[in-house]
Amino acid sequence: MTIASRNAAIAARDLAVIWHPCTQMKDHERLPLIPIARGEGVWLYDFDGRHYLDGISSWWVNLFGHANPRINTAVREQLGRLEHVMLAGFTHEPAVALAEKLVRLLPAGLTRCFFADNGSAAVEVAVKMAFHYWQNAGRPAKRRFVTLSNSYHGETLGALAVGDVELYKKVYQPLLMDVITVPSPDCHLREPGEDWEAHSRRLFAHMERALADHADEVAAVIVEPLVQCAGSMRMYHPVYLSLLREACDRHGVLLIADEIAVGFGRTGTMFACEQAGIRPDIVCLSKGLTGGYLPLSVAVVTEALYQAFYDDYVKLTAFLHSHSYTGNPLACAAALGTLSIFETDDVIAKNRALAARMAEATAELADHRHVAEVRQTGMILAIEVVRDRGSGERYDWRERRGLRAYEYALSQGALLRPLGNVIYLMPPYVIEPGQVDWLAGVARGAVDAACA
Ligand SMILES: *Cc1c(COP(=O)(O)O)cnc(C)c1O
Repeated sequence: MTIASRNAAIAARDLAVIWHPCTQMKDHERLPLIPIARGEGVWLYDFDGRHYLDGISSWWVNLFGHANPRINTAVREQLGRLEHVMLAGFTHEPAVALAEKLVRLLPAGLTRCFFADNGSAAVEVAVKMAFHYWQNAGRPAKRRFVTLSNSYHGETLGALAVGDVELYKKVYQPLLMDVITVPSPDCHLREPGEDWEAHSRRLFAHMERALADHADEVAAVIVEPLVQCAGSMRMYHPVYLSLLREACDRHGVLLIADEIAVGFGRTGTMFACEQAGIRPDIVCLSKGLTGGYLPLSVAVVTEALYQAFYDDYVKLTAFLHSHSYTGNPLACAAALGTLSIFETDDVIAKNRALAARMAEATAELADHRHVAEVRQTGMILAIEVVRDRGSGERYDWRERRGLRAYEYALSQGALLRPLGNVIYLMPPYVIEPGQVDWLAGVARGAVDAACA
């Protein structure tokens, strides 16, 4: 047998032993896997001399490019000192320094950091903590969670239960706890002539009613601030978060903000919650936390929540959750390297300029006959592709139009991985303005390819 290319050789070995995430493996009978040899900046290089602009930041984790020299140095220096030590009974400088920085960066009042090792685990931590908080507070009936339709909080059973993306959830439903699901303020669904703010305000009535009806049995509300990313990049106005904070306080319910995808400058502010001027009771962070280098996550909580667990051991009020790699020093070093770039470079201002460039470069797509909407929050720009713009008729999901867009983008040297029929750009912050224009051109071609 002759091997056509190095890519093909590695792909063949891979397919003999690896079961890939979020993939129907049979697709790879036709669809080539792309082995990546190395990355640099916004580019990923395969083994056959082709390269791809990482237009979705490798599932939204990469902030400052691949093989970023500053983050590389931070990890390399840590590697020479300490690779790992358990975080129970022991501690280390990178975890301490990182926790200090996060407390300083987050809205005032979030004072305690509980580390875990991936986004779903941080959501599990938040859910268990919120439940346990009310147990410790002598309110054991408060054990349910309120969540928004179309939300996504991860794949483990607790995180899946508080999410609402049917494709990932439906088959596991019998295994999941029962939650209260409230209609999302998703502004794609606004009435003609209605603006984002009016729509988000109007939809809040559902949340208000759920809280009024169920406050006695609800531990917490969990939301993705401003953008429901895995739910096809659906967006809403910050006023919803302001109203939610006020209502949670009034009804005595905790508020969990899952900033795993939107945190660290993605929406135009360091954290999305800042745009509503609110302080959640628990914030979950992961993804961009390490600049896309290593798995790490953290749930940051208020002092009041922390104190509800703080007592003599024999009272058995402690939070006894743990993961082996909690607060791994190499991951913390990558996070510190990432945050140091925010400290020295004017990242948020640069991102705003890049976001404006993304808007300009895609502006003409708004008139495309197969585009129902181009929407944007900061450096997330999404293109809603439909069969018929006039009637809003959608393509049948079985047609897999998004897959055509994916393959077209690859043929042009860009990584775009649509969510259903939504093509989106979510590039690393080190993308250059000219590359934004080029990527927008690929997106335009991808829309055409999807609709051909
Ligand atoms: C990706 C994501 C998660 C899950 O994080 P993993 O590290 O993939 O487990 C949770 N919440 C949101 C909002 C996410 O985008």
